[in-house]
Amino acid sequence: MKIWLAWLALFLPALLFCQQKAESKPEIPVDKWSGKTILLIGAHADDDMLSHGTLAMLQAHGNQVYVLTLTTGNVGTQDPQLSRMQLAQIRRREELAALEELGIPGEHYINLGYDDGLLEFEDRKAVVENLVRWIRKLRPDVLLAWDPGKNYQRWHKSDHRAASYLAADAARAAMWRLLFEGQITQEGLKEHMIPEYLFYNDYDHEDENLWVDITDFVEKKVNAGAKYVSQFGPGWKHYHPDLTEAEVKQMKDGVRGRIRMKDGSPIEGFRYYAGLPDALGK
Ligand SMILES: [Zn+2]
Repeated sequence: MKIWLAWLALFLPALLFCQQKAESKPEIPVDKWSGKTILLIGAHADDDMLSHGTLAMLQAHGNQVYVLTLTTGNVGTQDPQLSRMQLAQIRRREELAALEELGIPGEHYINLGYDDGLLEFEDRKAVVENLVRWIRKLRPDVLLAWDPGKNYQRWHKSDHRAASYLAADAARAAMWRLLFEGQITQEGLKEHMIPEYLFYNDYDHEDENLWVDITDFVEKKVNAGAKYVSQFGPGWKHYHPDLTEAEVKQMKDGVRGRIRMKDGSPIEGFRYYAGLPDALGK
């Protein structure tokens, strides 16, 4: 074979791969999505809160919405009276109550049971394998996750940082039939490539390229956010489930006050990506 032909054969696949451009805008706008399976992966029972308006919209529009939380949230409190076990149970109840406000069925909540605050020290292979199993089971059309950042460079606090990379790594691994192949040969699952992504982020919005108008779902977002009694408002330092009317109002005002506005409308912002999971950091 001529030498240039050999070079072409060697580099053509890489060249073609580089030309597969990542899409930064969905073909169908998010508010027109229906019949899709949507999976959100977060670290804690309330990470989905940043996307509650969008999740409520997707649920109302006939999509199947699932929320998967990696940790039990058994550390996040300033109340000296609460044990880990109690807090994990409280946070499960809070999450289910929040999802109910959004219209998302309780059986669509999945918790993988890892310890809060220590996610990055877990066995990464085991966590990814676990996530891959759920991706292959649910076969989502869209993944919502903490944004691992362009070039995988975004800084998050520890569990969020771990969750962003774990979700990205699992999305990638799920499409390769020879990775975790026991799930395929023994469990009857099939490999799955997630085609679209909505990455969320809590304070740094510079990579956002898609904003969902949540005007019609603000009340659901406020009511759902007010269910995280152990995390916000008076329950943070002294947990008590039966809030006074004034305390409920304080919680709702807090959620409402954090809603972002763009061009006069309440929004939630994302970095949208479509394409091979291998390139989702690009
Ligand atoms: Zn969190």
